[in-house]
Amino acid sequence: MSTPDLLIVGSGLFGLTIAERAVAEHGARVTIIDRRPHVGGNAYSEADEQTGIEVHKYGAHLFHTSNARVWEYVNRFTEFTGYQHKVYTTHQGEVFPMPINLGTVNQFFRSAHTPDEARALIAEQAGELAGQDPENLNDKGISLIGRPLYEAFIKNYTGKQWQTDPKDLPASIISRLPVRYTYNNRYFNDTHEGLPKDGYTAWLERMADHPNIDVQLDTDYFDTSQPLNRDAVRGALPVVYTGPMDRYFDFQLGELGWRTIDLETEHHDVGDFQGTSVMNYADAETPYTRIIEPRHFHPERNHYPSDRTVIQREYSRFAESGDEPYYPINSGRDRERVLAYRKLAEAEPRTLFGGRLGTYQYLDMHMAIGSALTMADNKLPDLLRA
Ligand code: FAD
Ligand code: UDP
Repeated sequence: MSTPDLLIVGSGLFGLTIAERAVAEHGARVTIIDRRPHVGGNAYSEADEQTGIEVHKYGAHLFHTSNARVWEYVNRFTEFTGYQHKVYTTHQGEVFPMPINLGTVNQFFRSAHTPDEARALIAEQAGELAGQDPENLNDKGISLIGRPLYEAFIKNYTGKQWQTDPKDLPASIISRLPVRYTYNNRYFNDTHEGLPKDGYTAWLERMADHPNIDVQLDTDYFDTSQPLNRDAVRGALPVVYTGPMDRYFDFQLGELGWRTIDLETEHHDVGDFQGTSVMNYADAETPYTRIIEPRHFHPERNHYPSDRTVIQREYSRFAESGDEPYYPINSGRDRERVLAYRKLAEAEPRTLFGGRLGTYQYLDMHMAIGSALTMADNKLPDLLRA
């Protein structure tokens, strides 16, 4: 193919949204490169070879949003099922509903509290931190739900997930987990929720399905043996880069910290291993954080076998070089480095940085799509004109 009007590095939801908009709004000819052998970034899924069950290769992905524009946009490429995510957690051999709600409180305290009684109980148990504005996850957790519930459901789970003392983690991590004084145990509060009816990959591939979009897989932007590499195109072509920010600048200001996960896949000769899609393990003795059983994401699919299932045990750890970077750790040192890298990025000729890796931000799918739509509105026209 001849030189494109726009090169996109990374075929995750950010890159795919930019590609689709560049073609639809500007008639641009776009090339997307990705170093992986498939499109879709971390949202990619595939059918498990033994059972045909759709498995999320890089960890469970649940779509939810309250952003009307994003919801309308994604529905152009896929229908969504009515799946509503619910999570349970095992603590000392007993299963409780998550996030913490009136059911969790009453089961934990062997009580039958009304909402107001439960509120009063938690307020009393959180009293040790009354009047303070908690900055770290430990204090925030105790102030939200009191020490007994915090120690049972949050402290060790968070320790396993982050391998960092909750006193050294920002309060914001836990703020996204609701606490409810009703029996509502839906995990997400958003207006819209569901899973792509015929799978993530069909959705993601549809976004790139246009004669003006050329997708080149197994192609690394930093591999100088392929023609569309950074050193060859820098300043010469408009680029939207969604790979890791520190890698783009050859780590010259230091590496950014990431957490990664390892998924251990197992098959079992039962039709149902755990009765639900996600079971968290709250105790320190269980080395994994959760078990995912993907068949439960699609109860409407009747081609899944009734005598065999697949599960993924999820372990969490710091990423080392060569690991997939998943969740930004955002330590003080990371934040300083990101600001310095951002300055370099602003000075970079004809390259825009976007997405989770390119901006070093935890973005849910709807946030990655929303920020790509904003970039397409505000910055893409100038980039393509330059
Ligand atoms: P990515 O999907 O990471 O895509 C970036 C792409 O760039 C990748 O395909 C990568 O191969 C490519 N790339 C990187 N470097 C290069 C290079 N040098 N050359 C060429 N290509 C390169 N969101 C939700 O809404 N709900 C969830 O339940 C949810 N669960 C998640 C669970 C996990 C374990 C993780 C990690 C994320 C989860 N997310 C979830 C977030 C979701 O994955 C992101 O919102 C989405 O991936 C963002 O898309 P992106 O395009 O920014 O990045
Ligand atoms: N969390 C917890 N116990 C749970 C579930 C979540 O302590 O059973 C805390 C934990 O600190 C986690 C945060 O809440 O990092 C956010 O949870 P979420 O499910 O959003 O984590 P993710 O899906 O990002 O792994």
